[in-house]
Amino acid sequence: MTDRRPRIVVGLTGGIAAYKVVTVIRRLVEAGCDVHVIASESALNFVGIATLEAISRNPVSVGLFDGVSEVKHVALGQSADAILIAPATANTISQLAQGRADTLLLTTVLAANCPVVVAPAMHTEMWENPATLANVDSIVERGYIVEGPETGRLTGSDSGVGRLSETEDIVAVVLAQLAPQDFTGASVVVSAGGTREPIDPVRFIGNNSTGAMGVQLATAFTRRGATVTLIGANLEVSVPRGIKVVSVSSAREMEEAVEKFAGGADVFVSAAAVGDYRVTNASADKLSKDQGIPTLQLVENPDILKNFCATKGETFVVGFAAETAESTLVDRASAKARAKGVDLMVANVVGDTTGFGNTETDIVLLDGSGNAVSDFHGSKSGAAGHILDYVSRQRAAKQ
Ligand code: C5P
Repeated sequence: MTDRRPRIVVGLTGGIAAYKVVTVIRRLVEAGCDVHVIASESALNFVGIATLEAISRNPVSVGLFDGVSEVKHVALGQSADAILIAPATANTISQLAQGRADTLLLTTVLAANCPVVVAPAMHTEMWENPATLANVDSIVERGYIVEGPETGRLTGSDSGVGRLSETEDIVAVVLAQLAPQDFTGASVVVSAGGTREPIDPVRFIGNNSTGAMGVQLATAFTRRGATVTLIGANLEVSVPRGIKVVSVSSAREMEEAVEKFAGGADVFVSAAAVGDYRVTNASADKLSKDQGIPTLQLVENPDILKNFCATKGETFVVGFAAETAESTLVDRASAKARAKGVDLMVANVVGDTTGFGNTETDIVLLDGSGNAVSDFHGSKSGAAGHILDYVSRQRAAKQ
C-alpha cells in the first residue's frame, strides 16, 4: 500500500530555538504526517541527528551531496505537501529571498511547488534590521507563509520580538496548508462540552462530556478556512488559539449564547451535551447533611437545537444524537433528526467508557429526513473531517 500520509519537509537551521522544533516535529508526526528533516550543519550544533531521526521516524538529510543517486536535492521538494523552515535564521531568510541554491534545504525549496511556512527566530536587533525586514517582505510577496516571530524571552536574559512562535501555532499553520480551504469566508458556531445545572453553589447535575468532539470540529473548521466561535460548556480539553471561545455553564446560558452568536451563521453545530432538566429549588447556600436529604424539583430545559432550527433560515445545522444502545442508535437518531429539524444528525454510541474524551469514536451520519448516509470509525479528528466533508458537499450542492 502506498503511504498516503501528508509529507512534510522540516528544514532546521542554526538557531538555539532548534531544540523547540523537535516538539513541533513530534506533533506533526502525531497528527499523522510523514516528516522528513533537512538539518543544516549549524542546526546540528543545537540538536543531534539521533534525536531528529528518533522523533521524525525517518532518516535526516544534511548535505547537498547526500543521496545523490536519489537526486535528493529536488526529490524531497517535489514530493513535499508542505515545507516548514524552523527556526529560520536571518541568514536562511536572506538566502530564501535571494533564491540561492547552495544547501540541500535551499534546493529543496526551489524545487518545491507546495506551501512553504517560515518560522523565524533571532535576536530583536537582527529581526528589526531593515535588511531582514526587506527579505521577509520579499518572501511573503512570493507566497511564503511567515509565522511569527513572537515577542517574549530570548536566549539570554533579554526579551523582545524575535522569539520562535509557540509549537501549537506553528503546527496549526502547517496543518492548515494541508487542508482544503472549502470553508473560507464561512462563519461557524460550534457548541461543545457538557452543561451543569446547579443544586447549590458547589454541586451540580452534569454529564461526562469533555468537549473533545466539539473542539475537534471547531479546529477542523478553522483549518479549512472558517471563522469559528466555540460556545464551550465546562470544557475539559484545551482549545487551539484562533478559535473564539464563549464560556457558559448551564443550559440557559448556552441557549443565550446560541441565540446571540449562531443566528445568521453559515453553519451551527450543536455538539454540546445539554442537560435536559434544571433544578428550580437550587439552594443559595451550600446544602448540609443536617438539613436532611434534599428533594430536588426539576423542570425541563429549553431544547436549544430544536428552537434554533425553527428559525434557522440559511444556516446549515448539525445535531448530535448520543445513545447508549447500539441496536436502536440509528432509529432513535433518525427520529431526532426529523423532530429537531436539523440538516445533519450525527449519531454516536456513548457509555461509561465509550465516546467521551479523546478516544476513538463510531459515528453514523443521517440527513435531515433521517436517512443514514454514511458512517465512520476512528479518531475524533478523523470524525470531524468526515463530518466537514459532508457539510461541505451539501453547501456546494446548494450553491
Ligand atoms: O434530544 P437529545 O438530547 O438526544 O438531542 C441531542 C442534540 O440536541 C444535541 O445536538 C444537543 O446539543 C441538542 N440539545 C439541545 N438542547 C437540549 C438538549 C439537547 O440543544 N435541551
